[in-house]
Amino acid sequence: MQGTQGGGIGPGLSPVDRRTLLFCNFILAVAWGQVNFTGDQVLRVLAKNEKQLSLLRDLEIQKPQKVDFWRGPARPSLPVDMRVPFSELPSGKAYLKSHGLGYSGMIKDIQVLLDEERDAMARSRRLERSTNGFSYSSYHTLEEIYNWIDNFVAEHSNLVSKIHIGKSFENRSILVLKFSTGGPNRTAIWIDTGIHSREWITHATGIWISQKIVNAYSKDHVLKKVLNTMDIFIEIVTNPDGFAFTHSMNRLWRKNKSIQPGIVCVGVDLNRNWRTGFGGNGSNKNPCSETYRGPAPESEPEVAAIVAFITGHGNFKAMISIHSYSQMVMYPYGHSLEPVPNHKELFELAKDAVKALYKVHGMEYIFGSISTTLDSASGITVDWAYDSGIKYAFSFELRDTGQYGFLLPASQIVPTAEETWMALRTIMKHTLNHPY
Ligand SMILES: [Zn+2]
Repeated sequence: MQGTQGGGIGPGLSPVDRRTLLFCNFILAVAWGQVNFTGDQVLRVLAKNEKQLSLLRDLEIQKPQKVDFWRGPARPSLPVDMRVPFSELPSGKAYLKSHGLGYSGMIKDIQVLLDEERDAMARSRRLERSTNGFSYSSYHTLEEIYNWIDNFVAEHSNLVSKIHIGKSFENRSILVLKFSTGGPNRTAIWIDTGIHSREWITHATGIWISQKIVNAYSKDHVLKKVLNTMDIFIEIVTNPDGFAFTHSMNRLWRKNKSIQPGIVCVGVDLNRNWRTGFGGNGSNKNPCSETYRGPAPESEPEVAAIVAFITGHGNFKAMISIHSYSQMVMYPYGHSLEPVPNHKELFELAKDAVKALYKVHGMEYIFGSISTTLDSASGITVDWAYDSGIKYAFSFELRDTGQYGFLLPASQIVPTAEETWMALRTIMKHTLNHPY
């Protein structure tokens, strides 16, 4: 691939030169103030009951910037994964022990995984430069993805176009790919990835799926039927500022990068900023929380841009919002335990999607409504979609179940995308066959 930023190492260097360059990159990263996670661990806690869960919730309230929940306290049947900084490990472990909370170490040293990830990206970048290609089995920076989008659209202009739907808080372009075989304002399917910037597997899956759509269009009769009737829209980098920041400064950044006068903590959780159920259970009013909902519904330009686009279009029939990790396929509501009117249909469709996914690589996903499968979450994308009349609304949590969490090795990108594609295809087919 073409133009990139820092970290690229030219081909043909001796191992010693390479080591020197890697070392220089490391020094530069430190000089730029990139957050270092040496010694930080991810602990898996198994809460036995509601009381133990609330003890874990207390931790978030007491130390929102110290303990970072990768899988939050939800229900006793689900594990809780939390990243604890090295300096907080003794007190964190003491807290767990003193309350009889059993735990195990999921990731012993986060920085080791981050170094491996960075080295793999550098190796891949060298290869991409020397072959002038793009590797679908590697992670990429925002600049690389935006370059790929331009080339992709130029190569497949008969089927794909690029739409600017707005600007992020830091003034980056918000881009959507449109797959269409023609016709004005057809019914449409929306897919977004990367609304939480640290969930890198989702952006990589969005890229792979975009390529899959253009490659499979003429061969896959289901996809062909879908695209002969409907348009597909994919927003790959739904949180561009957060994503750029995961590369430049803090790999584990989740929120966007908006700042408010007089408030020290940065960023809003874009999956708590939607109008439906705004401010309810499973969202936080503390700006320092990872699930901070923001000052008002749709206060964030990244959310407002999608709302304006989808509302303006007026003909979306399915909306799928892709996250990681936990291996789940879910449907509304998140903000309420109340079943949605077509919950039986959504349950059956989620079951079929999970079955199709399983057949590809044998990965097991659980499914159900968000509030009963995962936890309450308010102000989320798919609840808004549903209440806006898009009755096929789904939220995915991709691989894995916690071995690597957000730091899924690049070797799992293609298998994850392949199986996710089959689940998406199932939902697309159902949407096509059930017009409304
Ligand atoms: Zn997420």
